[in-house]
Amino acid sequence: LVQLSIPLNFMGMIYREIKQALIDIDDMFLILHRNPEIADRPGAPPLKVSAGTVRFEDVRFSYIPERPILRGISFEVPAGRTVAIVGPSGAGKSTLSRLLFRFYEPNAGRITIDGQDIAGIRQDSLRAAIGMVPQDTVLFNDTIGYNIRYGRWDATEAEVREAARLAQIDRFIESLPEGYDTPVGERGLKLSGGEKQRVAIARTILKGPPILVLDEATSALDSFTEREIQAALDRVSQGRTTLVIAHRLSTVIHADEILVLDKGVIVERGDHAGLLARGGVYASLWSRQRQADQAREALKRAEDEE
Ligand code: ATP
Repeated sequence: LVQLSIPLNFMGMIYREIKQALIDIDDMFLILHRNPEIADRPGAPPLKVSAGTVRFEDVRFSYIPERPILRGISFEVPAGRTVAIVGPSGAGKSTLSRLLFRFYEPNAGRITIDGQDIAGIRQDSLRAAIGMVPQDTVLFNDTIGYNIRYGRWDATEAEVREAARLAQIDRFIESLPEGYDTPVGERGLKLSGGEKQRVAIARTILKGPPILVLDEATSALDSFTEREIQAALDRVSQGRTTLVIAHRLSTVIHADEILVLDKGVIVERGDHAGLLARGGVYASLWSRQRQADQAREALKRAEDEE
């Protein structure tokens, strides 16, 4: 028995180490976008977040030299505030978040957090300070509780439940026969897009980063789910510096500033009411989306009545 328990202990240790390695990498998003060409300078200091102000200063960027994607982008997300980026597909919205995570570096201009150029600080410290709610959350083949705890391994049971409550996924979990121990992922219960997103929100609440990037799902959610998710997102972004990559305009109404990006430049900026009154690109995006939403809801009602 003694002989058998040693290798088992050893296996347990390896398992914990692998788990720890995964936490250090932090997120599937980080794994997927890791770029080996971006290296820390020798002796680079860690980021020190005080207030959490994010600034883009005349940022220019192209993936391939002949095709500029961002052509001089400047904006600030003041500490604790929310800035939303909207614009047509391919405008460069997600590219801004990739630059903030330093998966790529600007060709010109700079990005700072509390005055520190992110090109000069350690990447691990940068990524520890930013939480991401991605478009598509990857769930591990493990329990739903494990998938939430992934935000912070040392969280207590009570903290996991509180995060689930704030993300408005607690009642769903409690309705499952095995509750937090329900297996999910490829080999377990398949969650809907909205449920997966709420798991991601709960993870982020547990991680508790000062800066947040929300990359909204492009997929259409029904308006009830959308409202639930919106409430959860509002809670998680409260008091955190938040950059929203918005595909659904309903999320941006309360943003402190909305930037309309088109072909790599900011073509309009302001708050929701101001931009509507202006009757420009934002106003037409808004009315087009409302029509699409209304058509979708009408179709759904007709289907339900059948
Ligand atoms: P969407 O709303 O469809 O998500 P977006 O505004 O977020 O679009 P980005 O993902 O930032 O757009 O992409 C901007 C442009 O950069 C696109 O034309 C895209 O094809 C191009 N692009 C993105 N990633 C790469 C890459 N790794 N290499 C080359 N070009 C890329």
